[in-house]
Amino acid sequence: MTKTERAGGHAGASSLDPDDWDALRADAHRMLDDMIDHIAEVRDRPVWQPIPPEIRARFSETLPRGETPLGEAYRTFTDDIAPYATGNVHPGFMGWVHGGGTAVGMLAEMLAAGLNANCGGRDHIGIEVERQIVRWVRELFGFPQTASGVFVTGSSMANFMALLVARTAALGPQVREGGLAGEPLTAYASAAAHGCVVQAADLAGLGRGALRRIPFDAAHRIDIAALRRRIAEDRAAGFKPFLVTGSAGTVDTGAIDDLAALAALCRDEGLWFHVDGAYGSLGMLSPEIAPKLAGLSEADTVALDFHKWGQVNYDAGFLMVRDGEQHRATFAAPAAYLRRETRGLAGGSPWPCDFGPDLSRGFRALKTWFTLKTYGADRLGAMIAHTCAVARHLEARVQREPQLEMLAPVTLNIVCFRYRAPDGTDADALNAEIVADIHESGIAAPSSTTIDGRLAIRAAIVNHRTTFADVDRMVDAVLKFGNARAG
Ligand SMILES: *Cc1c(COP(=O)(O)O)cnc(C)c1O
Repeated sequence: MTKTERAGGHAGASSLDPDDWDALRADAHRMLDDMIDHIAEVRDRPVWQPIPPEIRARFSETLPRGETPLGEAYRTFTDDIAPYATGNVHPGFMGWVHGGGTAVGMLAEMLAAGLNANCGGRDHIGIEVERQIVRWVRELFGFPQTASGVFVTGSSMANFMALLVARTAALGPQVREGGLAGEPLTAYASAAAHGCVVQAADLAGLGRGALRRIPFDAAHRIDIAALRRRIAEDRAAGFKPFLVTGSAGTVDTGAIDDLAALAALCRDEGLWFHVDGAYGSLGMLSPEIAPKLAGLSEADTVALDFHKWGQVNYDAGFLMVRDGEQHRATFAAPAAYLRRETRGLAGGSPWPCDFGPDLSRGFRALKTWFTLKTYGADRLGAMIAHTCAVARHLEARVQREPQLEMLAPVTLNIVCFRYRAPDGTDADALNAEIVADIHESGIAAPSSTTIDGRLAIRAAIVNHRTTFADVDRMVDAVLKFGNARAG
């Protein structure tokens, strides 16, 4: 008997639990085995493939009113969903800054879903596991015991929240009641900072123009002298500078601003020092990379993503705040300060919902805990250092190939280069075509970016699975498609 045939057998019970747990168990074991194979055999598949129109169309059906057997829905998953995923599990994926995830993280997600914990608040172990991650990040970053932290979707959210904490610190708690009231706040970041840093000023009601984009030097690091000048000019013009964002790993080239110099400048100027450490800050796990991040431990706030270099399965963004009280004073509802329960499930205040805008939230801490616990900080640090070694191997290969040229220095794990176009051809257009050719070939997935006005093929080695041979294969593909188009 199929599940559909048994539908009547629910007999008034409104529960969504299966009638037959053994059948569910059999389906579940198959799914788990299939997904383990999916990860273990990822190299046998293309990195990415376009979604055929007929498959895309299958997701335009009307709302299903009746039941569908789980096995049938699962077939849709195996046939129509799994093959057309982003591709970032694959070692050939080098686009943007995407982590590869792990099988351990996948299992942790399943366990978290089984507990179905709402980690907004109350006194249960999910909250304590999240506090364990806060304690570990404190230790890693050299932050004081008073520092707080909270899981969020990603660094876009964490950078936005950091700006709000800085704003509340600058204007006082009354800003939460009365709004900005025309206060001419200005914030500062390198022109190479991530777009979400600009977006944060927009979302907070300061306006994008309030985020001053400061030029960067040849190493793609913020020009500190230009920053000082702009702050002085703004003060003279009646603006209220309040925040400087340093980048620990820019998204285009992986450049790290001089964080120690920015920390000193912020101390001198009385400004909030925020670090967008979305992917780079976890470089603190590697003794080889940590010295490049000197100054990070002096930040007032750090945005970071465990789902990038940390390889935690999506999503696992995080905001760290040096002064936990300022963090709480930015987000906690007035009623949160009146919570008096010290016993029972309603105890355990303050809660994560007091440190951000989310009330209901999942158990992101569990997959992060499993990842840090099972691999350990040293192995994760070595993996991170290895991605940088792969990037250096790629850089050396590009330098050896006369048809290729480097477009930016390699600081960490990001390599920007391109195919030299024959005279009279549009190099930007040619390289954009090469990138799309490689995507469609399924061989690799670099992305592109613009460096000094020139389109670059950009390989960000974030995935722990990517080897020297994988980047060589990508370069072979660049040469093959470049020669085919230019020749
Ligand atoms: C990825 C990234 C972001 C945005 O983070 P999300 O997790 O994608 O929201 C911000 N800044 C930098 C430097 C990044 O690499």
